[in-house]
Amino acid sequence: MNRPHSIKAYEEALRYIPGGVNSPVRALRSVGETPLFIQKAKGTTLTDIDGNRFTDFCLSWGVFILGHAHPQVNKAIRKAVSQGTSYGIPSLGETGLAKLVNQSFPGMEKVRFVNSGTEAVMSAVRLARGFTRRNIIVKFDGCYHGHADHLLVSAGSGVAGLSGSSSAGVPDAFTAYTVSLPFNDTEAVNRLFAEKGEAIAAVIVEPVPANMGVVLPQAGFLEQLRNITVQYKSLLIFDEVITGFRLSAGGAQKRFGLKPDLTTLGKIIGGGFPAAAFGGRADIMSLLAPDGPVYQAGTLSGNPVAMSAGIETLQILNQPGYYENLEKTAANFFAELTDAIADKKIRLNHAGSLFTLFFTAAEVNSFADAKQADPERFSRFFKYMLAHHFYLSPSPFEANFLSSAHSETELARFLKLVKNFPG
Ligand SMILES: *Cc1c(COP(=O)(O)O)cnc(C)c1O
Repeated sequence: MNRPHSIKAYEEALRYIPGGVNSPVRALRSVGETPLFIQKAKGTTLTDIDGNRFTDFCLSWGVFILGHAHPQVNKAIRKAVSQGTSYGIPSLGETGLAKLVNQSFPGMEKVRFVNSGTEAVMSAVRLARGFTRRNIIVKFDGCYHGHADHLLVSAGSGVAGLSGSSSAGVPDAFTAYTVSLPFNDTEAVNRLFAEKGEAIAAVIVEPVPANMGVVLPQAGFLEQLRNITVQYKSLLIFDEVITGFRLSAGGAQKRFGLKPDLTTLGKIIGGGFPAAAFGGRADIMSLLAPDGPVYQAGTLSGNPVAMSAGIETLQILNQPGYYENLEKTAANFFAELTDAIADKKIRLNHAGSLFTLFFTAAEVNSFADAKQADPERFSRFFKYMLAHHFYLSPSPFEANFLSSAHSETELARFLKLVKNFPG
């Protein structure tokens, strides 16, 4: 496949933008490629500036559960834009989207909108510390919660490609109150609480981690996080930036029947615009300024165009049968994918419409397991799929995303390619 325009665009971008990209994984370095430059996207099809077309299984990191440029969402966006793109003054869309969030996530009694998942998590953690008047935050190895200083500890995803487990430029003091434990290790959680429980403000977790590749919580693990945080009066934060509106309308918490104290949402909720949210128990949320002493603010927060894109997206997702249909397609696809990888020393992990192929024969239940997979084989697979016009999430530590826009034909072609993957 020829990509002369993308290559030239990349060279020019490198002169002005560090690494030529505005988010590191997009550089495709971990798979030994150079980035595609995209001209346009529609449904599941990406078209690059050389006119090559790709079926997209990354979908802007899971944002486009409806596929790119959904006509109904675009119509709402165009209407919003015609009425001005930011006011810095309240508008009706903010309450409208908050209501929809509350209907799907009843535990989010109050919601505040921000501009990115990073900001949502950062704010939720500050609020948890303000509410409990404690400092320690417990997270899990391989879970990514955005790039706030104190959460860049063993953070999976793009950070996994750096030489240390974290980022340079973060003073030790800033992570002194962050403890990272192995995911699915209930004993480690119990031990830490026995020792330091009275000082733990919150446990934050991706209930189904997707930033080390998809990893499933083992039976009882999330339940124990809920129980022990109640016991020690710490808060439980579910980071549902990926799983919210993905694993069900009510996210992973609905699927597992668990109620965290605080929840963060992102990706799907902005309908393709920079919007995210955090919310939870009203008594906790009431500590936020202007009601309370925990400060948090944003010039473009609750942006009217983003709110309209989010509202329209959620209304489509709320139509009866939406998730049932998507998951039925996904379940069939995963059953066939399981056959396609038999004898290939590839492990499929999946949840809802999320999946990761790990290039290892062993089970993957933690970040340590995920790191046992063969990165060279993943790179070969990524390049092979790209050469056949499929764009996958470009890292062995990421999820791929199905959407309601993927066709049977596209899924069948994908399966055939997997079957024929030489290794
Ligand atoms: C993507 C992601 C974030 C960060 O969101 P941004 O919008 O990229 O800042 C946080 N948590 C999880 C679980 C994510 O997947």
